[in-house]
Amino acid sequence: MREGIHPKFEKTTITCACGNVIETASTKKDIKVEICSACHPFFTGTKSRIVEKGGRVERFKKRYGM
Ligand SMILES: [Zn+2]
Repeated sequence: MREGIHPKFEKTTITCACGNVIETASTKKDIKVEICSACHPFFTGTKSRIVEKGGRVERFKKRYGM
C-alpha cells in the first residue's frame, strides 16, 4: 500500500519527435513525446516573436531610409 503512495522517481529520458532528448526524473521510463521545450510553439514563440519584430524594424528602417 505504501509503495503506491510514494512512487519511485528514477532517472529517465524523454525523447522528442524532433530528436531532442531531455534527461529527467520520473516514475515512467523512456518517455516519448511529440513536442518538447525545444520545438513547442509555447516555448519557442517568445524567441521567434522577437526575431520577427527585429525583421519588421529593419524593413521599417529601410522603407523610411533610416
Ligand atoms: Zn522537440
